[in-house]
Amino acid sequence: MSLESYNAKRNFKKTKEPKGKKTVSGKRLKFCVQHHLASHDHYDFRLELNGVLKSFAVPKGPSYNPKDKRLAVMVEDHPLSYRNFEGIIPEGEYGGGTVMLWDRGYYKIDYYDDKVLKITLYGKRLKGKWSLVNYKDNNFLLIKEIDKYVNYAKISDFKTSVKSDLTMKEIAKKYQNK
Ligand code: MN
Repeated sequence: MSLESYNAKRNFKKTKEPKGKKTVSGKRLKFCVQHHLASHDHYDFRLELNGVLKSFAVPKGPSYNPKDKRLAVMVEDHPLSYRNFEGIIPEGEYGGGTVMLWDRGYYKIDYYDDKVLKITLYGKRLKGKWSLVNYKDNNFLLIKEIDKYVNYAKISDFKTSVKSDLTMKEIAKKYQNK
């Protein structure tokens, strides 16, 4: 799913989200996770690949417990600059609600085939080995692999932005009139 789909869904006169432009990936691949309180509360997991962010909506968010298989639905590619986005998407616009930058860092690809992507995350909060398993259409399972980062913490323990240190409420307040 390309950036055309990303651009088509958004009115850039109304939303402060970045316009979708393809860039060239550097040596180190980046990733981010955004906590997105829209019509449904969810986390967006985004991995840089070929100059865009491959994006997955994760309703329950990632889990540090390998027994939890978290649904991750692949959505449209996002521009690489989206990894820095935090703020408000106006009501009535696509994805309207509050966006917090919940984690960011680098990752590396350890293995991939038609169905499985195995990665190592070097984030502030998400670390170690993870898998994304494609089981049907755009539906994947995001699973923590067994390593020393298992049960490191619960994601709900982290209530603030890695960018601004603000909570969801504080982000909503800060950007409400902008
Ligand atoms: Mn989202």
